[in-house]
Amino acid sequence: MGSPATGGLRALATEAVHAGRDDLARQGLHAVPIDLSTTYPSYDSRGEAARIDAFATDGAEPEGPPVYGRLGNPTVARFETALARLEGTESAVAFASGMAALSAVLLVRNAMGLRHVVAVRPLYGCSDHLLTAGLLGSEVTWVDPAGIADALRPDTGLVLVESPANPTLAELDLRAIAHACGSVPLLADNTFATPVLQRPAEQGARLVLHSATKYLGGHGDVMAGVVACDEEFAGRLRQVRFATGGVLHPLAGYLLLRGLSTLPVRVRAASANAAELARRLAADPRVARVHYPRLGGAMIAFEIHGDPHEVIAAVRLITPAVSLGSVDTLIQHPASISHRIVDAEDRRHSGVSDRLLRLSVGLEDVEDLWRDLDGALGRG
Ligand SMILES: *Cc1c(COP(=O)(O)O)cnc(C)c1O
Repeated sequence: MGSPATGGLRALATEAVHAGRDDLARQGLHAVPIDLSTTYPSYDSRGEAARIDAFATDGAEPEGPPVYGRLGNPTVARFETALARLEGTESAVAFASGMAALSAVLLVRNAMGLRHVVAVRPLYGCSDHLLTAGLLGSEVTWVDPAGIADALRPDTGLVLVESPANPTLAELDLRAIAHACGSVPLLADNTFATPVLQRPAEQGARLVLHSATKYLGGHGDVMAGVVACDEEFAGRLRQVRFATGGVLHPLAGYLLLRGLSTLPVRVRAASANAAELARRLAADPRVARVHYPRLGGAMIAFEIHGDPHEVIAAVRLITPAVSLGSVDTLIQHPASISHRIVDAEDRRHSGVSDRLLRLSVGLEDVEDLWRDLDGALGRG
């Protein structure tokens, strides 16, 4: 069976390997070149002035030769092109981390005087914190999905959701939410699903955010963020990135492109492992509750009767570490790490119990994973 098309002519699996790389063969290249230049010599300063003026107007990718690393980098641009193709958007803008990407979105809206954000919990702990603490001057109203339309104000600049959410894997009806947002941009954090399982732009989300540190990179060795969106919003994001400096390093851009090539294969193989582990956990008397998305995916959340700290201390093959989306399996205790910065009361209200563990399932043999998990759960 082929993989689903992305809205263009080519299927997702083909785009994952070729998008952003279509010109290589004609250039006599096979691997993607890494352009490490921070600046670019030019004898035509009139031309450079015109390119900077154009960028200041609409934030469009400068035409012609690059000018300066903070304005744009050819290797990073390849990754952006590829991710936009996979998410089915006009453009994508890459940043130094997922949090830098979210910050840029908030700064774009704040600069327009639209400081109010409507958001649904749970979100990744630091996204929650960024909004709750008002670090960038925004003000947040937390709502249930059904309360979104009523919470919108004239100064609402953004609606922010995650589905499946970090760490509970709660799923939302993105199409219904996009409808409730009216003209306010919906940002869907698609870090957990990846474009392999879900393309939020097709369901009406104007902005699709990734912590590319997770599945897009896929090997635990690159930190990055990216926003896939229409070209108009992308232009504003590039202007903010230029002015605030949260750029992605070209080496990271290279590693992300390399990661994208295997994204569909990795996500499907890890998801098959996760579905089997979720089934075994659900049948286990030491486990109180298992959260595994209807959508599928490689993340599992589960609540245990025993002490979650003991499980973290007892794993041997599985790595006890925050983060997710790597080729190897990671386990962490959200109340201690990924969601520690969220107020304990807010955390529990959004379903993040103190007994919840979050497992990011990798590509190991499922029997080896189960043996380790079974041992770590101990006598319960
Ligand atoms: C990790 C994560 C982020 C933050 O990304 P960084 O790359 O760590 O800055 C945002 N959203 C979700 C869902 C995440 O899991």
